[in-house]
Amino acid sequence: MQSYEAPDNLLTDRVLLVTGAGDGIGRVAAKTLAAHGATVVLLGRVLGKLEAVYDEIVAAGHPTPAILTLDLSMAGLHECQQVAEVIENTFGRLDGVLHNAAVLGEITPLEMYDPDTWDFVMKINLRAPFVLTQALLPLLKQAADASVVMTSSSVGRRARAFWGAYAISKCGIEGMVQMLSDELANVSNIRVNAINPGATRTNMRAHAYPGENPATVTTPEEIMPLYLYLLGPDSVGITGQSFDAQPPKASA
Ligand code: NAP
Repeated sequence: MQSYEAPDNLLTDRVLLVTGAGDGIGRVAAKTLAAHGATVVLLGRVLGKLEAVYDEIVAAGHPTPAILTLDLSMAGLHECQQVAEVIENTFGRLDGVLHNAAVLGEITPLEMYDPDTWDFVMKINLRAPFVLTQALLPLLKQAADASVVMTSSSVGRRARAFWGAYAISKCGIEGMVQMLSDELANVSNIRVNAINPGATRTNMRAHAYPGENPATVTTPEEIMPLYLYLLGPDSVGITGQSFDAQPPKASA
């Protein structure tokens, strides 16, 4: 699915939520989904960044998006239920979620890892996708075919030394995709899958690999075929799987 070719109208009439939509892969995903007809709910913590994405989508003539500011490090069930309520009241439907927001935390041995940083990383990378999905399930269940996509990493498949809470959170994401897809398989039309973006040119990648020349790293635009495939109707029936958006390399 790394070479999937999506028609321009693939996502027409669909409402999709993207977390971490203000920067990096989430920003490009939001614009790409909108370019294929989706009405995108842009969720993030910095209003100015979300407004810039909103303006680009509107200027390109794509469906008018919506903005929801939420700091996922502080998002409990109440805040997530408010997200669901706003989406239901504004659009009356939700066809998919891309859980993309994450933070790197520290790259350091567990022996020295700061427990508060651990909690912070876990809240954003693992707890927020769980609680937000829980709050959105009633709305997703009403869709004809809803897609939940969670973002993993190569260290979510095999936790490598020094990757700390980030790696453990991504191992948790892989587990959550397996568990949730099983739980929903026979009782809903919701599919749940994971994407490992692979090494991708973003601030997170630059932070994790400061010595790397960014020009040598795959751009977010290049990995979009898999995002379109999993969030669009061509992946109906595919659930519980973890996909690579590009051929594997050392990555965050
Ligand atoms: P990025 O450039 O750092 O972007 C991360 C996004 O998450 C930003 O929009 C950020 O918002 C948002 N975010 C962080 N903390 C948040 C919070 N507390 N509340 C709400 N939003 C928050 O990272 P990226 O490289 O695009 O990563 C996107 C996803 O791909 C992540 O799940 C990452 O683990 C995964 N991934 C990336 C790579 C890679 O090579 N880039 C490889 C494997 C996996 P702000 O702009 O406000 O900070």
